[in-house]
Amino acid sequence: MQNFNYNAGIIYPNKFKGGIACLATHILNENLSKYKNIHSGVYFIENYGTIKNSDAIIITLQYENDYFNVIKIVNELKKTNPNAKFIAGGPCAIANPLPLINFFDYFVIGEIEGSDIMYDIITGQDDDLRDKYYSKEQKSGILISSDILDIFETSGLSNLELSNYDEETQAEIYYNELLSVIEKIKKENSIKRIYPKKLGLEDYPIEQLTHEEGAYGKAFLLEIGRGCPRRCKFCMAKCIYYPPRYRKLEDLKYIVDEGLKHTDADKVALIAPSVSDYKHVLELCQYIKEKDVKISPSSLRADTLTEELLEILELKSLTIAPEAGSQRMRDNIYKDVSKENILNAVDISKEFGINTVKLYYMVGFKGEKSEDINEIISLTKEIKEKVRKVDVSINPMIPKPHTPFESHAFDLSSKKKIKTIEKELKKYKVSVDYENFNSMIAQTILCRGDFEISEVLKSVKNPNELIKAVDKDIYLCEYDTEEIPWNFIQIK
Ligand code: SF4
Repeated sequence: MQNFNYNAGIIYPNKFKGGIACLATHILNENLSKYKNIHSGVYFIENYGTIKNSDAIIITLQYENDYFNVIKIVNELKKTNPNAKFIAGGPCAIANPLPLINFFDYFVIGEIEGSDIMYDIITGQDDDLRDKYYSKEQKSGILISSDILDIFETSGLSNLELSNYDEETQAEIYYNELLSVIEKIKKENSIKRIYPKKLGLEDYPIEQLTHEEGAYGKAFLLEIGRGCPRRCKFCMAKCIYYPPRYRKLEDLKYIVDEGLKHTDADKVALIAPSVSDYKHVLELCQYIKEKDVKISPSSLRADTLTEELLEILELKSLTIAPEAGSQRMRDNIYKDVSKENILNAVDISKEFGINTVKLYYMVGFKGEKSEDINEIISLTKEIKEKVRKVDVSINPMIPKPHTPFESHAFDLSSKKKIKTIEKELKKYKVSVDYENFNSMIAQTILCRGDFEISEVLKSVKNPNELIKAVDKDIYLCEYDTEEIPWNFIQIK
């Protein structure tokens, strides 16, 4: 029997600081380490250039804003790794692979634990993959890019001069043809997301690389659960990691023991969409605390914050995401948290010496009125009266794929709303932080785009160039629910 050896480079397409704090890179490495004939390593933006002659390059797509890094990495590594298969995974790959279809050979649509899908892609031929992962009705867990690119190729659309279609008539012809192609893709390429029904111990990455420069410090990453039991309508994580699955307390204790034994971490970072929703969170934190390490929770909900939890966590600041200022809007977006919950969380935090509060808001929801904006200001002011320092982060709502808001328009007046809030809150010495507006527009185009965006991305290098190269209104407007490009991905 031949003994094949394969080399795989796993890349986090941004800085080491974020990459080492991203559980996905550790999970991928752990998954591949099970196979004796695969050697894998994790790389970041700082060192990916050292990968040479690899058999597989796997890039985790965590954020659309990383796409320009991703394209640069792929273009460079194609030269130095001529025989490599380029594979994308992660939340953005699950949600809508079309904007990057020109750059990858395969997209993994789902979570890899409990499956050999990554191994099969690295070591197998396309026909083997089709035999294993395609049934007559549906494909499962994998998108082979050539299956879709061939459809575009035969349609002739891929040869169209994109610079021509800003003339009205050509644009119309192009988009009508594009719609029929997307229809064909949906019919022939319906792909079902894969995921493990339960999160077990077998695939958990214990021997994690830790470093004080990581986003959580020198931390061991402890995933409590995946998917979220809440129902915020703008949230993509909730939708693409459905259903919510929490790990057993006993399993988590075991992982903590092993993790602290095998790493030099001085902290345990709790990872879950909403850490304080875990019913054993208190017991778990008590257990970790006894190990004499710090605890860093990735996210807490104002309505599940308790004195006991605050006492254990010894937080220096409190982070709350009311998302909207008015109860009316919080009800509209199903952010099930009341003003009372928010103020109560601030009050009990103060009892534990916390005098800094960070608030996350969004603007640009459908049906938003000036009263809703004013209530962001008044709620923040009320909190500022209670504590010494309040920092606000506020961004436009991006209608993300697979969410109940996926077809909503991106609100271009969000910028003005954010500026109004900033001006008002400055008077109360509240700092207001927000993303560059063009980068948010680009993010919207990248998450809602289709094959055309993948073509455009061959020649643009940054968000501003992307916005100039496309008719952005096509991607920012309200979508017809029948014509949503990512409909061929079956999330549930
Ligand atoms: S609580 Fe957070 S993770 Fe859960 S649905 Fe809401 S925004 Fe998403």
